[in-house]
Amino acid sequence: MNKYDVLIIGAGFAGSVMAERFANDGKKVLVVDKRSHIGGNMFDYIDDNQVLVHQYGPHLFHCKDFFVLDYLKNFSNWYPYEHRVKGYVNGKVVPIPFNLTSIEMLFDEDEANALKEALINEYGMEQKVPILMLRKSNNVMIRGLADFIYEKVFKFYTMKQWDLTPEQIDPKVTERVPVFISYDDRYFQDEYQFLPEDGYTKIFEKMLSHPNIDIRLNTKAQDILKINFEDHKIIFEGSEFSGLFIFTGQLDELMNYRYGKLSYRSLYFDLQSHDGIYQETATVNYPTPEAEHAFTRITEFKHLMQIKPQRTTIAIEYPYPYDENGEKGNIPYYPVFTDENKTIYDQYVEDIKAFDSFVLLGRLAEFRYYNMDGVVAAALNKYKELTQGNLND
Ligand SMILES: Cc1cc2nc3c(=O)[nH]c(=O)nc-3n(C[C@H](O)[C@H](O)[C@H](O)COP(=O)(O)OP(=O)(O)OC[C@H]3O[C@@H](n4cnc5c(N)ncnc54)[C@H](O)[C@@H]3O)c2cc1C
Repeated sequence: MNKYDVLIIGAGFAGSVMAERFANDGKKVLVVDKRSHIGGNMFDYIDDNQVLVHQYGPHLFHCKDFFVLDYLKNFSNWYPYEHRVKGYVNGKVVPIPFNLTSIEMLFDEDEANALKEALINEYGMEQKVPILMLRKSNNVMIRGLADFIYEKVFKFYTMKQWDLTPEQIDPKVTERVPVFISYDDRYFQDEYQFLPEDGYTKIFEKMLSHPNIDIRLNTKAQDILKINFEDHKIIFEGSEFSGLFIFTGQLDELMNYRYGKLSYRSLYFDLQSHDGIYQETATVNYPTPEAEHAFTRITEFKHLMQIKPQRTTIAIEYPYPYDENGEKGNIPYYPVFTDENKTIYDQYVEDIKAFDSFVLLGRLAEFRYYNMDGVVAAALNKYKELTQGNLND
């Protein structure tokens, strides 16, 4: 007999939402994470400066679907916060996404007016245009502007972040930060934009506080279970596990890289303390060549807080190649979307289909980019599907 009905690997949003839902249903749940804390990449803590630091980079909640926010309100109060990002371009600090104000700050009045008029005539106000599309415009003036923005905002940032040019990566990546024909300088335009009153970690503490949930930290899945590919069984601590198995980690690692390694990009955050205020907004991007600034952005967490402490903490963000054994860059932050990775990933997924009750969920296990609202929505939908339908449908 299994002690647990549901075994979940990973205590990020994917794993924790599933744990909370099933525990509420009266199921006994075990959540396992290799890290020393819950919350996955959402983990935050108060540091010596009394600043709430997001350990794995700044995390801003924004979404269009009320049901996600409605669910998350069970675990925290939320306050309105609209994120604004600036970027270093030609020695000036201008709004990112690049918008009509950015044009006004970087060009003289006549040229700026002509450029704005051309953009508005071609695309209309309040429109978001991906940079790669803007570069294909038939209008010579727009193409000239697009080349400028490509060079000054996208090219080096993308090369630093991904070690690839904007053309080499999946267009969805550059589409996430389009050129915005607007004076709206908010980074997101979603209807719901909030931050949790006491930080994200408190949300996870509440989610996982149900008496039906046991948590094991500092524990790697591979150390407590074996995936048996011959007879499609999961052996958990010596005996067959017949409950629901939810995996939210790296699939290639779990499956001993039998079809090869998937590639990821990593980051390193250099945390620094300062007096007062360091920069004018929460995040300033450095889309400059690597020789000028090796980092991509600086985040000052104090700007995200309702009550601002005296001192301040900044995170200087350096992109890194992923190396699981490296001193830096040992966290797989971003799946790299290439055809080769897709082929490898699909082979792993084929193998999983032969198992009963084996669910892949979250940004690592599904090998895709999810915002937190996307991962919460995916978990809530998967829970519904599993409890209302047949698991293997
Ligand atoms: C730098 C950065 C900034 C971001 N900013 C935003 C933002 O502003 N807004 C937003 O909505 N989203 C943001 N995101 C996305 C957000 O972080 C993710 O959507 C969310 O954290 C995904 O949750 P998850 O549960 O899928 O993965 P994770 O949070 O990564 O959780 C997976 C957990 O599984 C554990 N694990 C993995 N493998 C194993 C194993 N073999 N054994 C045991 N444990 C294992 C890991 O330790 C981890 O704790 C950002 C992401 C990054 C990288």
